[in-house]
Amino acid sequence: MFHGSTIEISAAALRANLDFIRGTLGKARLCSVVKGNAYGHGAGAFIPLARSLGVDRFAVYSASEAFYVLAHVKREASIYIMGDVDGPALEWAVEEGIAFNVFERQRLDMAIHAARTLKKAARIHLEVETGMHRTGFKLNELPEVLEVCKANMDALEIVGICTHLAGAESLSNVPRIHRQKTKYREALAIAERVGINVGLRHVACSAGVLNEPDILYDMARVGILQYGFWPNRETEARYRTAHGLTDDPLRRVIRWWSNVMSVSTVPAGGYVGYGSAFEAPGERRIATIPVGYAFGYARSLSNSGHVLIRGQQAPVLGIVNMNCITVDVTHIPGVEKGDEAVLIGAQGERSISVSSFGDLSDQLNYELLTRLPHDIPRIVVEKHD
Ligand SMILES: *Cc1c(COP(=O)(O)O)cnc(C)c1O
Repeated sequence: MFHGSTIEISAAALRANLDFIRGTLGKARLCSVVKGNAYGHGAGAFIPLARSLGVDRFAVYSASEAFYVLAHVKREASIYIMGDVDGPALEWAVEEGIAFNVFERQRLDMAIHAARTLKKAARIHLEVETGMHRTGFKLNELPEVLEVCKANMDALEIVGICTHLAGAESLSNVPRIHRQKTKYREALAIAERVGINVGLRHVACSAGVLNEPDILYDMARVGILQYGFWPNRETEARYRTAHGLTDDPLRRVIRWWSNVMSVSTVPAGGYVGYGSAFEAPGERRIATIPVGYAFGYARSLSNSGHVLIRGQQAPVLGIVNMNCITVDVTHIPGVEKGDEAVLIGAQGERSISVSSFGDLSDQLNYELLTRLPHDIPRIVVEKHD
């Protein structure tokens, strides 16, 4: 109720992105990564839409995210926890038929124990450490782990065997990625020797899908591409050049807008907002928009961000406040209270991309998106205007 801004999710954009992704995946299945509240898009809006477009597997990082996602997925699609699930959360996951990664003996033993207590097989993915050095069984542990699995197959359903690439978006990581691929193949060979069916083989995230098509195997875990963003510029340039794509095949799914709350003028020499961050060189017409850093509008956009009003760019003046920003509308005729102000996405012919929203690092798209607060209302529209 009474929110100062709205996030619109475009069905047409998601459809286009899924078509593109499915085209790159070939026979491999898509697992839709919806951690971080569906990369800020809002799991509650994104998941039912993705379901209606045929997506039937969703991955999150933690049990708390899975708990939230379950409410939107109902029973018709599967959920997979890639990281944090322990103790009572692990028992809950087994009970709900939610799959999770197993990357250490203790968790494997817990999964078997929970399955026996609940009389329900634990659905697990075995994670193999191949060079990311985050989580995963080392290759020398794997034979014993697989033997334990084999001896407890009444309590386990092995859904898959996976690893995660440590930076497939950059050519500078290619040697490391290639060593990871080799280790993963060794892991598969070990499973074959032990004589155990390890289910779906999966390695690729978005950058892996685009840059390392030989590791698509049976499934890919795709996050950022679904939302219409490239993992980084290098991957975009590399992929588009290799495939001769003059147009961007991706469509941004998100559009975030607010409304002008108030319009006023500042005389020449007046300071806008706190302190002296912006001094008006001449008389300025300014508009205040009720979105600040508490709503995910980064403070680093002080004196540097832009919003769109009446199809034109209005620069942020002064410091981004906790709950509002002030923008310059001197050059935009007729701006009045209630006008739409676009913070991310298109208005008329122009658009604000998340990356220009603060162009500091490749990880910024991920970070800015996932920082959009849960309580901004998300609505699904067929198409952004
Ligand atoms: C986040 C994540 C993904 C998805 O990454 P994208 O770059 O957004 O496609 C895949 N696998 C794991 C293990 C992840 O944590």
